[in-house]
Amino acid sequence: MFRRNLTNWNHYPMIDSEVISPTSESECMDALKLYPELIARGMGRSYGDASLGKVVLDCTAMSRILELDIQKKIIVVEAGVSIDEILKQIVPSGLFLPVVPGTKFITIGGAIAADIHGKNHHIDGTFTRHVEWIEIINESLQLVRCSTSQNKDLFIKTCGGMGMSGVIIRACLKLVAIETAYIKCIKIPLYSLSELLNSFERFKDSKYSVAWLDTASGNGKKLNSVLIVGEHEKAANVLIKNFELKLQVHKSPLMRIPKLFPSFLLNKISINIFNRFYFLINAKSSDSKLLHYDDYFFPLDKIKSWNRLYGKKGFVQYQCLVPANSSGEQALKEILLACSTKGMSSFLSVLKSFGEANPLAHMSFPAPGYTLAMDLKMNNGLLNFLDELDKIVENCGGKLYLAKDARMDRSFFLRSYPNRVVSNRFVSLLSNRLGLNTSDKK
Ligand SMILES: Cc1cc2nc3c(=O)[nH]c(=O)nc-3n(C[C@H](O)[C@H](O)[C@H](O)COP(=O)(O)OP(=O)(O)OC[C@H]3O[C@@H](n4cnc5c(N)ncnc54)[C@H](O)[C@@H]3O)c2cc1C
Repeated sequence: MFRRNLTNWNHYPMIDSEVISPTSESECMDALKLYPELIARGMGRSYGDASLGKVVLDCTAMSRILELDIQKKIIVVEAGVSIDEILKQIVPSGLFLPVVPGTKFITIGGAIAADIHGKNHHIDGTFTRHVEWIEIINESLQLVRCSTSQNKDLFIKTCGGMGMSGVIIRACLKLVAIETAYIKCIKIPLYSLSELLNSFERFKDSKYSVAWLDTASGNGKKLNSVLIVGEHEKAANVLIKNFELKLQVHKSPLMRIPKLFPSFLLNKISINIFNRFYFLINAKSSDSKLLHYDDYFFPLDKIKSWNRLYGKKGFVQYQCLVPANSSGEQALKEILLACSTKGMSSFLSVLKSFGEANPLAHMSFPAPGYTLAMDLKMNNGLLNFLDELDKIVENCGGKLYLAKDARMDRSFFLRSYPNRVVSNRFVSLLSNRLGLNTSDKK
């Protein structure tokens, strides 16, 4: 056990924590017996306070791959294994994870607890839809295996439960077959929000889709964006003779942002220039291109510690969900307009389309509609500004993603998440803030 100032990926908020790093199930159990309140933690890649608390159980040292069955397409792993590590093991055998987020540096415990989504939610749903079973130490300090057919109630509380149902120890994941490590993608430049939403609809059968937005260009009517759709490429279409290279795994990050990066360089002007430049480059052609999966799914992973660009005060990622109807579209317009009129520049903004909600995960975020995520540098007016955006989101029946939240008001949470997982043993800053540590379910 040691004391450390802990933050998650966005460097806000920070807390002085006692950190315990178990390397096995029995060490986990010992820690749980010793500390009546704690929260499990993965790689701290959530943006906000979900895996922060006074006592934190860092699960990253429980990181063994226990079984890989290539024929059955399943893998059994400890909860602290990262997606990075799993892909290194499975891609050469022509296998891939059915759902991956925008970074490969997260653990399986974190992926299950946040019920993460990828660029294929409209086709394949969330991460936990592809989980065979989970073994978890629950509130009563028992190791229990749960799945859709065994201890289903615990499974539903664990998937998307943000660590409230217990400490995930290991899990069995389903895998999908791929012929190559490449994604055939098409970039489509678009010039308004309605054009973009229509294009999501037009490409709804494409396996992967995500749109990059220049929020500074959004004035309600105009909005520059690039929709990027993709499919796993077939072996016959990849002109590499050596079969092994067709299933080549990703490489390590290329560069690192230094600790003392002068964060004033990231300002409204530089953010606007970067976004305009990005649009100009990507709007040039809409020909199809072959990208390695690492470039398609995880472009930000190329730069290690890119979160340091935002400086010591950090940033907030505001990720909301709005319904796929006219009030959802109106809400997106209002949010984009508010950002440009109030001069709140988002360095990186993406929009994704969601399909059906996961009925087997109480606090899962995705539901039919669109999700907008914006990275906003921390400044004096930011938190008040985000309260205003919350009102727009709530008015259209939307909600915020718990894995990206550091500041949502409890009453908004209670109204937008009718199914909640509560606990008195598993305590994080998030669970305290949102009222998940009482038995009061009102
Ligand atoms: C660049 C970037 C891109 C991202 N893109 C996406 C995206 O496209 N889609 C998406 O859904 N998310 C995305 N995320 C968010 C990220 O996938 C989630 O926040 C994920 O939960 C982080 O996993 P972690 O291992 O870092 O867990 P942490 O951040 O440490 O913890 C997250 C939650 O999981 C719980 N938890 C962790 N381990 C365990 C365990 N063993 N047992 C029980 N509970 C546990 C914690 O208590 C906490 O509530 C992105 C994050 C980054 C930095």
